[in-house]
Amino acid sequence: MNVLIMGVAGSGKGTMSEKISENFGLKHISTGDMFRAAIKSQTELGLEAKKYIDKGLLVPDDLTIAMVKDRLSQDDCKNGYLLDGFPRTLPQAEALQEIAKEIGKPINCVLNLVMPFDTLAERITGRRTCPKCRAIYHIKFSPSKVDGICDECQTPLIHRADDSVEQLKVRIQEHEKNTRPALEYYGRMGLVKDINAAQSIDGVWHDIKSVLESVE
Ligand code: AMP
Repeated sequence: MNVLIMGVAGSGKGTMSEKISENFGLKHISTGDMFRAAIKSQTELGLEAKKYIDKGLLVPDDLTIAMVKDRLSQDDCKNGYLLDGFPRTLPQAEALQEIAKEIGKPINCVLNLVMPFDTLAERITGRRTCPKCRAIYHIKFSPSKVDGICDECQTPLIHRADDSVEQLKVRIQEHEKNTRPALEYYGRMGLVKDINAAQSIDGVWHDIKSVLESVE
């Protein structure tokens, strides 16, 4: 099974992706994580991507599509992939259709996490991330055992520079302008399942699990 998970930053894509990948055996591929890894190792792609990411803007399509094409062609995606954060534009969605056809791995389902602005703002400003193992926490809803330290690998947690209300507003505008057409593209194919993401983690997971079990 090959799945896309879509939704504005803070809608819980990362948390749900971990659960989906663990329970359904899909390879989790997050373009945001790939860009952050490239920035950390200061590759040419990373340096270019940083200019956009720091402003809350999308990285240009050609760079992003080439990176995803290369990644999906690797062996660990052969039992199914879960794409998180891609596609975010109509040209990316169209390119993905071609890539999926080429590698014989068509998309079976598009999960669309839906959440109101105020809930998103609260989630995003309290979010803390582990820069090493990528675990995600929230200072109020799912705090780490020791304040500011990752439970899994004891690394100091960070508050991502793009996790601010200002950047959230930019990303929502970006989402409406660029990602909405991609979502509509999949909607016309009958692949989109809207998920109410403004519930507890267990509630969201219950809904996603039912949807994916019916697709499998
Ligand atoms: P994320 O962790 O998914 O919120 O991604 C962080 C940032 O990486 C985004 O705000 C974009 O600047 C960039 N990014 C991630 N995925 C894409 C994509 N599919 N297209 C363009 N830019 C992306």
